[in-house]
Amino acid sequence: MDCGCTNCTCDDNEEKITISCPECGTKGNKIPEKAVKANLKKELFKDIEGKDIYLCPDENCSTSYYSVEDSLKFNLSDLKKPLWYKKGADPVIACYCNNITEEQVVNAVKKHDLITWQDIVLHYHEKTLCICRKLNPSGECCTEFFYSVINKTLKSLGKETVTIPGGCTC
Ligand SMILES: [Zn+2]
Repeated sequence: MDCGCTNCTCDDNEEKITISCPECGTKGNKIPEKAVKANLKKELFKDIEGKDIYLCPDENCSTSYYSVEDSLKFNLSDLKKPLWYKKGADPVIACYCNNITEEQVVNAVKKHDLITWQDIVLHYHEKTLCICRKLNPSGECCTEFFYSVINKTLKSLGKETVTIPGGCTC
């Protein structure tokens, strides 16, 4: 699927391969190696060499990446940044490519009436970056979560919500 952005690397074409998390049993997606390496602490790279790595999607589970080979399992603290959807994530990151937190999104909506990914990122940075395949821990685009934060905030202000764009918006 072409998401329409310039030089976008958010390739949604790949078929999803899933395997159950060894900790909680929830099925997680296989993650591109680039995304794993962008988020896993460097000293652990040797453990993932040549292995297929998956990400646990369960918000209550303390496992982040795992592999069925050698029953490899990483904790949340083995990552450089918190995983946004896990319970207790602090800060909650809304966009990993541009390092924007949920709190920054909320403030941009509340104080500056900004309601798109682009406008909000540009409020904090000079330009927008979109390399989700590489920088997001899931290897996927942050659009859905980012816009859910925008809409949650709009709702709290009694304002009309926006439509969440399909694909990625960058
Ligand atoms: Zn799990």
